[in-house]
Amino acid sequence: MDACPFCQSGIITHVFAETNHFWAVYNRAPILPGHSLILPKKHYESFFELDAAERLELIEFIDSTGRLLLHHFKGEGFNLALQDGWLAGQTVVHLHFHLMVRYEQDLPEPGSWYRALFLDELEPTGEEERTILSVSEMHEMVTSLRGLTGFRK
Ligand SMILES: [Zn+2]
Repeated sequence: MDACPFCQSGIITHVFAETNHFWAVYNRAPILPGHSLILPKKHYESFFELDAAERLELIEFIDSTGRLLLHHFKGEGFNLALQDGWLAGQTVVHLHFHLMVRYEQDLPEPGSWYRALFLDELEPTGEEERTILSVSEMHEMVTSLRGLTGFRK
């Protein structure tokens, strides 16, 4: 899967936590501070390709990563979003969940974040009002999150 951005070796520089089968990746174009992705290391397209053990591992990882991000970014809630299939708005055909930290009065409308998800996650086009972090800003963010999780690569 050479064309898949999540299967490129460079993805590792965005990773701040892992389990046996999953990574937590900071989004280079966060809609809000703390916006991260949870994705399998293996190229699965759909949630339904995960086996039972992977599904359990995934929900535990979402739990621990969600708690970590909420605490670190001082959020007051979070959205968890999956777009499974192109009809559902999946732009990168590698299974991934968006974990979005929410803050009081963070967006004009509570659901405003959803439209922005249709932009590319790793190679943002710069459309709309998403902030794209520089390489050094990403490095700083991922390093600070790795300090909390102990992830080393
Ligand atoms: Zn992939």
